[in-house]
Amino acid sequence: MNNQFEVLIVGGGNAGLSVAAQLLQNKSGLSIGIVEPSDKHYYQPAWTLVGAGEFDIADTEKNEKDYIPAGSTWIKDAVATFEPEQNQVTCKSGAKYTYKILIVAPGIQIDWQKIKGLSDTLGKNEVSSNYSFDIAPYTWELIKNFNGGVAVFTNPSTAIKCGGAPHKIMYLACDYWRKKGILDQCEVHYVSGAGVIFGVKEYAQTLEKVVADNHIHTHFGANTVAIDGKSKTVVYEQKNAEGEIVQKSLNFDMCHAVPPQSAPDFIKKAL
Ligand SMILES: Cc1cc2nc3c(=O)[nH]c(=O)nc-3n(C[C@H](O)[C@H](O)[C@H](O)COP(=O)(O)OP(=O)(O)OC[C@H]3O[C@@H](n4cnc5c(N)ncnc54)[C@H](O)[C@@H]3O)c2cc1C
Repeated sequence: MNNQFEVLIVGGGNAGLSVAAQLLQNKSGLSIGIVEPSDKHYYQPAWTLVGAGEFDIADTEKNEKDYIPAGSTWIKDAVATFEPEQNQVTCKSGAKYTYKILIVAPGIQIDWQKIKGLSDTLGKNEVSSNYSFDIAPYTWELIKNFNGGVAVFTNPSTAIKCGGAPHKIMYLACDYWRKKGILDQCEVHYVSGAGVIFGVKEYAQTLEKVVADNHIHTHFGANTVAIDGKSKTVVYEQKNAEGEIVQKSLNFDMCHAVPPQSAPDFIKKAL
């Protein structure tokens, strides 16, 4: 295989594929390599709708090969290290590729382990997350079978993919419970590491109304640190009036958790 490209793209997800397609649209014949280890492409935005019972999870998984823009080269490998002095990357297989322009688009890493107990209980004990292809359908099982009680939705304090996803599923759940006639028996809590419902003022104003209409209890600056599925407890840290960080907890009948997220480890090591 050719090891030299005018443009080398790390990651063949939504960003990498759309950048490649647009570059080729502007300049056909451009030599573009896309380094992407996965056989499958996942359309993650639809996972919220899967969790809300409106979309089939199978339809969010496609073959990567069908989405590689014609004219570009798919390198089925993962980048391990960057050698910018040589305009080069080295892949896990040991293969090296050089470029004139490098585009880095490997997405964001999900750090499940940063919430104590979450990995052990995910997908069972009434704990779910739309942030996983395997688990998102379980969110719908929980919402559908909920007959009232305490529902907790968490949002981490880190940057995340889709700032709306942690609360969109909460509004969709409330809407379903309203239609089912049980919303008044549901005590819904939003435990968020952020300071406001949404960072853009215009949207926040509308969302505050949605929160009020659904009688959602909001906890801001509240960083979820542990989820225990067996005792059905979410533990979070929040500053008290004196500015000290204190631990608080909520018991739940169902919990939708959004894990902390960060740059992929191979990017962190490259900095
Ligand atoms: C539940 C949920 C709901 C969402 N809802 C919305 C929404 O409503 N609207 C919206 O705009 N966005 C939404 N998003 C966010 C959206 O999915 C992401 O913003 C988008 O997928 C980001 O594209 P990306 O290409 O940067 O990353 P990804 O699509 O995650 O792709 C990254 C790619 O990089 C590859 N990769 C990883 N490591 C390497 C490596 N070492 N070498 C080479 N390749 C590597 C991966 O295999 C992957 O294919 C949602 C996300 C989730 C999880």
